[in-house]
Amino acid sequence: MHEIATLGRADDATARRLLERCAWHVQPIMRARRWRVATLLEMKPEQRDRVGDNYNRGERVRIKLRNPASDTGWYDLGHVVLVMLHELVHNDIGPHNRAFFKVRADADADDFLTSSSQTRRRPQPPRAHFDSFRFVFDDAWKRCRASHR
Ligand SMILES: [Zn+2]
Repeated sequence: MHEIATLGRADDATARRLLERCAWHVQPIMRARRWRVATLLEMKPEQRDRVGDNYNRGERVRIKLRNPASDTGWYDLGHVVLVMLHELVHNDIGPHNRAFFKVRADADADDFLTSSSQTRRRPQPPRAHFDSFRFVFDDAWKRCRASHR
């Protein structure tokens, strides 16, 4: 990640912390799969049709952080990380085709939570935490719209 930028709205420190923690969590898997992201941005909550997108294979990845529908007003870290993983797969594959979902399966939470995170001594989010977000993840996959240019 060369650059991380938030929208500069209310409680911007929370947005920045969320995005930085997300970047930190996916760092091992990005290194392992040679996924590079030039700019990681907070996506405007007004963007109704998606929760994340990836422009030009990692040139610009945007992730939605603010969730007016939740009690906290934010998506939680598990959701943000899973959307991020989805967008990272678009570094390799544009469309949501069979090959895309194969990579998605390979890069799934097991891989992410065990091998990569333990070698980096990352605090392990409880497995149940990720399981509980799997439905959100699947929904996010459907709602993602990648830019294929
Ligand atoms: Zn997608």
